[in-house]
Amino acid sequence: MSNRTFTMIKPDATEKGHTGAILKMINEAGFRIVAMKMTHLSRQKAGEFYAVHKERPFYGELVEFMSRGPITAAILEKENAVEDFRKLIGATNPAEAAEGTVRKLYASSIGENAIHGSDSDENAKIESDFFFSKLEQF
Ligand code: GDP
Repeated sequence: MSNRTFTMIKPDATEKGHTGAILKMINEAGFRIVAMKMTHLSRQKAGEFYAVHKERPFYGELVEFMSRGPITAAILEKENAVEDFRKLIGATNPAEAAEGTVRKLYASSIGENAIHGSDSDENAKIESDFFFSKLEQF
C-alpha cells in the first residue's frame, strides 16, 4: 500500500483563486504536504507530463490548457494516499463527480477539471520525481 501521491492544482483553479481553498480541503482530509511548488509548465513540459495521452484526441487541448498559466504541484502523504486522494478529487468529468469533491466544487468541464491526482503508486513516484528533486521531497 502506498502512502504518497502527487497532485497539481491546474491553471483553471489557479486563475479563479481556488488554490487556498483546495489546499485547505487537502489538509482537512488528512494529507500531509511533503513537497510543494508553484510553477508554470512550458508546452514542452506539459506534453512530457501527459505523454501517455499522446494518441488521444484531446491531447493538444490538454497541453494548451496545462501550459496556459501557473499550477501548484505537491506530494501528499497519508495511508492509502493514491486511492483516498482520487476519492477526494472526484470523477474526471465534474458532471459525474460526487458531492463535496474538489472537482464537483471547483471544476467546470472534463478538460478544465481543477486538479490532478495520480492513478497508481507507480505513477505517483514518476510524477513526483518529474517535479521535485530528492532534496525537495520531505
Ligand atoms: P484523470 O486521471 O481523472 O485526470 O483523467 P485522465 O487520466 O483520463 O485524463 C487526464 C486529463 O486529461 C484529465 O484530468 C483532463 O484534464 C483531460 N481530459 C480527459 N478527458 C478529456 C476530454 O475528453 N477532453 C478534454 N479536453 N480533456 C480531457
